[in-house]
Amino acid sequence: MSSIVVSLLAAAALVAPAHDVARETADPRDGWGAGTTGGAAADAEHVAVARNRAELIAALGGDNATNGQNATPKIVVVSGRIDATEHKTCADHADPEYSLDAFLAAYDPAVWGRTAKPSGPLEDARVRSARRQGDQIRINVGPNTTIVGVRGARIDGGSLILTNVGNVIVRGVEFTDAADCFPAWDPTDGAAGNWNSLYDLVSLSGATNVWIDHNTFSDGDNHDSEQPVYFGRPYQVHDGATDVIRGSDLVTVSYNDYYDHDKTMLIGSTDTPGVDVGKLRVTVHHNRFGNVLQRAPRVRFGQVDVYNNLFVATDEDYQYSLGAGVESAIYAEKNYFRLGADVPAADVIHYWKGTRITAIGSLVQVGSRLPRPVDLVAAYNEAYDPDLLPGAGWTPVLRTRVDPAVAVPLIVAATAGSRRLR
Ligand code: CA
Ligand code: CA
Repeated sequence: MSSIVVSLLAAAALVAPAHDVARETADPRDGWGAGTTGGAAADAEHVAVARNRAELIAALGGDNATNGQNATPKIVVVSGRIDATEHKTCADHADPEYSLDAFLAAYDPAVWGRTAKPSGPLEDARVRSARRQGDQIRINVGPNTTIVGVRGARIDGGSLILTNVGNVIVRGVEFTDAADCFPAWDPTDGAAGNWNSLYDLVSLSGATNVWIDHNTFSDGDNHDSEQPVYFGRPYQVHDGATDVIRGSDLVTVSYNDYYDHDKTMLIGSTDTPGVDVGKLRVTVHHNRFGNVLQRAPRVRFGQVDVYNNLFVATDEDYQYSLGAGVESAIYAEKNYFRLGADVPAADVIHYWKGTRITAIGSLVQVGSRLPRPVDLVAAYNEAYDPDLLPGAGWTPVLRTRVDPAVAVPLIVAATAGSRRLR
């Protein structure tokens, strides 16, 4: 064989992995995102391999500024490891007028107070810096797109943006560390203020018909526990792993591995009724939530089906898993919770102004003891007020397979995550 034929065969092998995973579509019964086809209709010209940021942007349509509106059916095969930062550091994005030291001096609560958000030249310089970093690390995805990973596919330091798009599939990619170089200080957030970051690893905003399947999400080597503390609060450089906000709808999040992350999955970002009412319908099944601290998921408004997930909560900073927010209707069934000895089962559910939640068939295992059935709503109600009604008011029907909770740890270990996509 000539070398040209060999390289053509190699390219074909990349573009069309075994069983044609690249053209696979969501099962018509697989959760709220059922039937999502992504880029399955792509013609040969719109199937491309991406090995770096430039190839990724080229495959998504050619211009990161307009790719978000590019509706041509397309398949993007991510191969190997892509560094979305292209080795740029925070200093490369910093505006000449910005320095962290000056920012900390200007907005120290002892100087600035705690009643108003920062404003003025240094805050403006921070915003300009953040904009420059955002232009680098945000990767805009248009409608009718499949992104599928092969060969240890990984996107480091990037934030995949699905804004006002429909019909997108993301599978088989490991996403790590979309760190914000310029967290915002909000002294009015919570009792003591908070540092907040901009970038989710995958961000759905006004996105409909989306299938997020067999990916891995983490902070990589950049752990929150190693960040500094400023103004008495952790300097949080990470935001969500998979956030679903602003009227997003019909989403299935299946067989993903989420680990070592704080704010994992926010479904609905505001208590104010608006575009989210009647939307934010998401199915979350067969995922591993491995020592994520909160929001797995935290829900407002949506009917969210959470079944057959493995939750591991042994970290001392664990907060909660299921957040019942305003008008939320979480239906949690046959999930398996592995809790640390000092994590009460009452803490799995957290009150965020919701009124009701279904949590049935839950198994809780503490340490190496045998798992036991726990009524998580009753446990929450016994420990906390206000009580939640034990019924979400709806029953999911879009499910392909429901496993017994006792089998969930083994099934999820064998099937979840980017490297388990077959
Ligand atoms: Ca977010
Ligand atoms: Ca109570």
